[in-house]
Amino acid sequence: MTKVVIIGGGPGGYEPALVAAQLGADVTVVERDGIGGACVLTDCVPSKSLIATSTRTTYVRESADLGIHIPEAAQDKSSVEVDIDQVNSRIKRLAQAQSEDTRARLVKEGVEVISGEARLVDPHIVAVGDRRITADIVLIATGAHPRELPTAKPDGERILTWRHLYDLEKLPEKLIVVGSGVTGAEFASAYQSLGSDVTLVSSRRLVMPTQDSDAAEVLEDVFMRRGMTVLRQTRAESVVRTDDGVRVTLSDGRTVDGSHCLMTVGMIPNTEGLGLEEAGVRLGDGGFVEVDRVSRTTVPGVYAAGDCTGVNMLASVAAMQGRIAMWHALGEAVAPLQLSTVASTVFTHPELAAVGASEDDVRSGRIDGRTVTLPLNTNPRAKMNEVRDGFVKLICRQHTGIVLGGVIVGPRASELILGVSIAVQQRLTVDDLAHTFSVYPSLSGSVTEAARSLMIASPE
Ligand SMILES: Cc1cc2nc3c(=O)[nH]c(=O)nc-3n(C[C@H](O)[C@H](O)[C@H](O)COP(=O)(O)OP(=O)(O)OC[C@H]3O[C@@H](n4cnc5c(N)ncnc54)[C@H](O)[C@@H]3O)c2cc1C
Repeated sequence: MTKVVIIGGGPGGYEPALVAAQLGADVTVVERDGIGGACVLTDCVPSKSLIATSTRTTYVRESADLGIHIPEAAQDKSSVEVDIDQVNSRIKRLAQAQSEDTRARLVKEGVEVISGEARLVDPHIVAVGDRRITADIVLIATGAHPRELPTAKPDGERILTWRHLYDLEKLPEKLIVVGSGVTGAEFASAYQSLGSDVTLVSSRRLVMPTQDSDAAEVLEDVFMRRGMTVLRQTRAESVVRTDDGVRVTLSDGRTVDGSHCLMTVGMIPNTEGLGLEEAGVRLGDGGFVEVDRVSRTTVPGVYAAGDCTGVNMLASVAAMQGRIAMWHALGEAVAPLQLSTVASTVFTHPELAAVGASEDDVRSGRIDGRTVTLPLNTNPRAKMNEVRDGFVKLICRQHTGIVLGGVIVGPRASELILGVSIAVQQRLTVDDLAHTFSVYPSLSGSVTEAARSLMIASPE
């Protein structure tokens, strides 16, 4: 029986554990904090649970055109009262329950779960405290932690990383979010909706520089319309405590005062002190584990998956890298990881979902393609719901019409993107999509309509 030891119990660890158990291996997962990992306990799951509350508050605040009015006496920010204590308790309860459910599932499938900190002694021996576990296959899935700036040390009270947010007893009155990547944008959007006065510090011309620029523009407009201050092309040099809050000094010399500061300036892989380099596992830039497309490290029998590899820091990618590692290690047929089909969402309000190739790929000539963008405000269902912001963008190959990618900005874009994802994954053409029934009226009708507008008329 093949012995598999997995270090780290996040999606990069527990998902492959299930695969390995299914394939008949003897599997042990070592986890120091809780099964589900940072994904379930502090990062993805808590943030999306917080956003469940903030999305509802936005709907309530912005429903006047649908005939829902907040009494005049209460028409200020506090018109919707958010009990952050209750919100945070719910989030922590939910995360804990999900962690316990996942642990129970592993145990049910015959996986041994050990609580503790693991270290690689050599490529085939993992140490947890005094215990030595011999392994045929080791999977490193240790995740990552928030990057900190030496001049802006989080204290957990006023200067925060996102992992401190759920211990706050009061809603931050004036929240300064440093960093306008996906994490910064999601929290800025959420706290603005919950009722905080939010300032977003962005080092770039536009928020979320890695996303479609039309989408980022829509979101920045929405943020500002809701009253957010966006400071562009500047960086936080330092963050210090003041008598009653924080002061952020920017690279252009300006200072911004707030009640709290949330730092979202990247992630550092949890690869230090694990014994990786001593065992011959090569680490690349920034300490991320180097892996190939079937998750092999530079040492035979040692695989790595998830945020510790820095490949594409998403739970779905972590899980897929881990599964691929197990299929490969245990002799199953396996296709290498395909990053060109990964779907992702920024859970702002509205949401921004994307899959596959981008319009930038077309403009720069990296792919020979065509694009179309349909604003959502022409969609009948959007009109009925008073949805004014957002669009559907499709990208297809120039001559064959094969769908290569798409971007959707709108409510529940995270759900709407699936149709485009299936088209990209299955190499469907715009004609295939255009001939697919969508419900009338529905936002997904814009996906089929976009496909119709990309159909090439047959020659006479
Ligand atoms: C705020 C935020 C929101 C996010 N939202 C989304 C989202 O909506 N969708 C999405 O797809 N992704 C999201 N992500 C990304 C997602 O959380 C990560 O990609 C995912 O957690 C990676 O999984 P992982 O298994 O690699 O690592 P983790 O989930 O970090 O798990 C690794 C585990 O290993 C443990 N560990 C580390 N070292 C050791 C050791 N030596 N011994 C034992 N255990 C160890 C850690 O304690 C941790 O529990 C979000 C990230 C952040 C920061």
